[in-house]
Amino acid sequence: MASIASSKSTSLPSAYLDCSVKGGIGINANFDSGSILVETVESDSVTLRLRSEPFTEGTDRRCHAQWFYFRSSQVKGRNVTYRVVNAGESSYPAGWKNYKTCASYDQESWFRIQDTSYDDVNGVLQWKHLSTQDTVWFAYFAPFTYERHQQLVAKSAMSPLCSLRVLGLTLDHRPIDYLIVGTGEMHLWVNARVHPGESMAEWFMEGFIGALLDETNKAGEALRQQATIHAVPNMNPDGTVRGHLRTNACGANLNREWCSTGDYTAPSLERSPEVYHVLNEVKATGCDAYVDVHGDEEIEANFFADCAGCPNWSPRLKSLFDQFSDAYCEASEDFQRGKGYGSDAPGQANLAIGADQITNRFNCLAVTLEMPFKDATYNNPEPERQWTPERSKALGAALIHTFLEVLPSLRLKEVKDTKL
Ligand code: ZN
Repeated sequence: MASIASSKSTSLPSAYLDCSVKGGIGINANFDSGSILVETVESDSVTLRLRSEPFTEGTDRRCHAQWFYFRSSQVKGRNVTYRVVNAGESSYPAGWKNYKTCASYDQESWFRIQDTSYDDVNGVLQWKHLSTQDTVWFAYFAPFTYERHQQLVAKSAMSPLCSLRVLGLTLDHRPIDYLIVGTGEMHLWVNARVHPGESMAEWFMEGFIGALLDETNKAGEALRQQATIHAVPNMNPDGTVRGHLRTNACGANLNREWCSTGDYTAPSLERSPEVYHVLNEVKATGCDAYVDVHGDEEIEANFFADCAGCPNWSPRLKSLFDQFSDAYCEASEDFQRGKGYGSDAPGQANLAIGADQITNRFNCLAVTLEMPFKDATYNNPEPERQWTPERSKALGAALIHTFLEVLPSLRLKEVKDTKL
């Protein structure tokens, strides 16, 4: 198509190479949660690079990169090939195996590009898409933007069953939003998205909090009566806006900031105010159970990571973990126990990780919940739609039944003195 403008970038790749004003394809990631670098734009092909996050200290010792989210304009009727040429240098190159790119025409409904492939010899992720609309958005997973986060906390706070507090500010001066629901004596904590690119974690929270505040939901009502639920739906708003996979504004991996140990430092206002403020609040309320919500780039399943490597791991904690896991399998056909990380060796837990820190500090049930970027292939495959916001939300709602099952077992029974 001779009339279509094409362009090659002449300087370093940038977040946009927008030829749409000249009739060519426009690539642009300059928006909330956007991330990509553009190298070249031709009439039927686009060359892209994943953008690196700030350097992460500790044992990571690298610049993370994996998340992408951008729009492609002036593409109606064009069959365009998109090539991410540094996918092999990403944080989890094995995650591209079986991966299908997410796309949307309206930013509400997301679908998978089945014609996605990964060349592991050259480290290139590629997909081809014939667009039916002028503009299409592509992302690593359906984004849960900071704007949508604002809507979630606004809607939640309008419920008479919920109160919203701000625990502190991030390095970019954003509020760390904290929702409190229920009046019961048990204290349940559910936090999400220390890793901001794991956007399924906040879709999960939208489902969980929505069901909890639904006055027609009997299970939600029962949980509200028996427990106080503490929820931080997005622990890393700066990373969310900046389009990071794994780190906050200064490059801190917030799931390695929960105490000083080995190469890790204690949470601080200078480096990890998100963890500093949340951990202080957990200390203030106490904790009977803790769920840290994540996504895993490689494993095609929903699963819990346990805390078996903690110094205080015991038959009681193992039994609670088993009971909680079995209850989740009952509550959701998307959850399973067969596939996961496996357990740390005894005593080998990294207490800088959130769930391990909470297990050790409060001697309570604490898990890391992982959801897939791809599909729940191991127990409930849906190859066409794969893992979605809707499935994440349903899994979030199912957490209510799961909590109810274990609630009577969570606290150590008081040992009564039987001597008279
Ligand atoms: Zn994570």
